[in-house]
Amino acid sequence: MRLLFGTGNPGKLRELRRLVEGLPVTVVSPADLPAPLPEVEEDGATFAANAGKKARAHALASGLHALADDSGLCVDALFGMPGVRSARWSEGEPAAASPSCALGEAGLGELGPAAARAARDEANNDRLLRSLDGVPDELRGAEYRAVLVLAAPDGTVLATVDGSCRGRIATARRGTDGFGYDPLFLPEAWPGRTMAELAPAEKDAVSHRGEAFRRLRPVLEALAVDESRRRG
Ligand code: IMP
Repeated sequence: MRLLFGTGNPGKLRELRRLVEGLPVTVVSPADLPAPLPEVEEDGATFAANAGKKARAHALASGLHALADDSGLCVDALFGMPGVRSARWSEGEPAAASPSCALGEAGLGELGPAAARAARDEANNDRLLRSLDGVPDELRGAEYRAVLVLAAPDGTVLATVDGSCRGRIATARRGTDGFGYDPLFLPEAWPGRTMAELAPAEKDAVSHRGEAFRRLRPVLEALAVDESRRRG
């Protein structure tokens, strides 16, 4: 069964490819499609609303089953922020306020997509460190959350599942694996290591996306069986 994962985030795509291993499912990325997917404005108030909007739009545009992930970091001391704004939290901040985001005169738009994403992640992590400056260890609790929505080719939502991962925000970046806020996130299951210091399989075993995917797995298994029966 072909399953479209219409994300522009290579970190998420890598993780999904790992998570579907062993299932009779071939992951299709936007780069595999003959035409670009429509831009979907992520203006929902919840992860579920945004993931649903993306899954339906991607399924209808491609004629494939589509899986969408909306996810983010919710920090206790920031009353759940950045939440649904996690990807673009630092957008609109003056460049000087983002010391690691050494763009000089160039804006994000002048960088290639991979460099722009890396610069945005750096700026987001800078903002997170600044926001928690002086906050003691015991008040640095946080949670990653993910919602996955699976839509049929006609746009019908077949499943909505979620996952979460509790942890704490470190006072300095560590590690080079993962993406986004991973260098600053210390998962409860691995005291002393950031998510970016975990091996890929270790992250999948404890992550919000891993948990959500394990809830989706039986649905995908049943769907793949149905699809193969339908094709004879
Ligand atoms: P989305 O594509 O709008 O769902 O953006 C999700 C954003 O949340 C990412 O760009 C990251 O900043 C953050 N995020 C979500 N999941 C993870 C993760 O597994 N590790 C690190 N950051 C994450």
